Amino acid sequence: MKITVVGTGYVGLVSGTCIAETGINVVCVDVDREKIEKLKKGIIPIYEPGLEDMVKTNVEKHMLDFSTNLEKSIVDSDAVFIAVGTPPGEDGSADLKYVLEAAEGVGKTMQDYLVVVTKSTVPIKTAEKVRKKVKEALEQRGADIPFDVASNPEFLKEGAAINDFLKPDRIIIGTDSERAEKVLRRIYKPFVLNGHPIIAMDIPSAEMTKYAANAMLATKISFMNNIANLCEAVGADVNMVRKGIGSDSRIGPKFIYPGAGYGGSCFPKDVKALIRTGDEYHTPLDIMKAVEAVNERQKTVIPRKVQAHFGDRIREVKLALWGLSFKPQTDDMREAPSLVIIAELLRQGVTIKAYDPVAMEEARKHTGDTIEYCQDKYEALVDSDGLIVVTEWPEFRVLNYKVLAKLMREKVIFDGRNIYEPAELLEYGYSYYSIGRQPVRP
Ligand code: NAD
Repeated sequence: MKITVVGTGYVGLVSGTCIAETGINVVCVDVDREKIEKLKKGIIPIYEPGLEDMVKTNVEKHMLDFSTNLEKSIVDSDAVFIAVGTPPGEDGSADLKYVLEAAEGVGKTMQDYLVVVTKSTVPIKTAEKVRKKVKEALEQRGADIPFDVASNPEFLKEGAAINDFLKPDRIIIGTDSERAEKVLRRIYKPFVLNGHPIIAMDIPSAEMTKYAANAMLATKISFMNNIANLCEAVGADVNMVRKGIGSDSRIGPKFIYPGAGYGGSCFPKDVKALIRTGDEYHTPLDIMKAVEAVNERQKTVIPRKVQAHFGDRIREVKLALWGLSFKPQTDDMREAPSLVIIAELLRQGVTIKAYDPVAMEEARKHTGDTIEYCQDKYEALVDSDGLIVVTEWPEFRVLNYKVLAKLMREKVIFDGRNIYEPAELLEYGYSYYSIGRQPVRP
């Protein structure tokens, strides 16, 4: 078998590479020439654990190739996966420009029967728009080539993308064609040998499943952040509450960790797009509107704690900031809460020295020279009046109090991910502020 993947971002690159692992020939196509040149040399544009080795191995075995030429790449393909970006448009709805351009490209270049699969996260009815675009492009060529469309949303998590793709909880296939379903079942069979299901359904339900999944996850986070803030106000400890409710099998322990707000390339934009769809169909999604509002406010919790602690001294304060990416194990800075935290602190007059294990290059594209970037976590602490932890990278989890005592001017820590123990911080003489737990001060 052979497939073509259009778009070599997180989703296209990971999907294409993992599918190549199973013995299917894959060509990944992108309009970004520089990206493709780099990929051909084995240079990966993103940080994703394990991906670089897997790309190199499959390129060497001639199972995986990269190209800017869709026409050549698509020859002999059984399916083409559209995995291009769907950023929010001005009104919050998903901008389908890239998806429809890709669909048009497919229609212009395909030679034989193909399944045209949307893997990008797209609003309900997009597959129909894709079908129309491909058909129009074929008609313009005077070509009568059969094809089917399918929706196959992707659920991988950045930072654990390879494992998620190789061992998915489920595969969703939305199509109205038995032939297309058969092709996709063949492609995905190696990934469900663990017994997890391939769930076939109609196209709108598949498109909706992706949004509903992300909306549910974002809701869990905002719910927990809401509860965390109340815990703090009433004198409860959200960590205990989390364990207390997470042990209920109807609720479960996952995705109920409070923090400094969700970010990333998916939740914020998908929540926005779903709200927009709800409004469009006169079915307002009140819950999602609240989820979004709670999240926006949550990103300002840490700056507010900083302001409250330092008071009038705030303009002279120099703070270390650990962790910039929206979550650990990725350099993705899209919608990262750290950006809001930094902007707010700068506005208050704070000087910031930041460190992240992999995301500093990406972060610099957003912040410019408004903050200082440091070589390691300790350099950021030199002469600092406090430490803020935004992303829970493993290397931040255990504090070396002897080193901290030598480097920091003042003993105060603001923890946006609840990774430290208040009692321990108190023992070492620190003021410690976290999310949904009582602050401690020596
Ligand atoms: P991305 O922005 O990282 O990459 C998109 C790529 O598509 C870019 O390299 C761009 O140059 C390329 N492209 C645009 N138009 C093209 C065209 N006409 N032909 C060829 N290439 C083209 O995007 P991403 O993060 O991989 O996300 C892609 C889609 O998958 C989005 O809809 C996203 O919501 C969804 N998704 C993302 C994740 C994630 O973790 N990032 C997870 C699940 C689903």
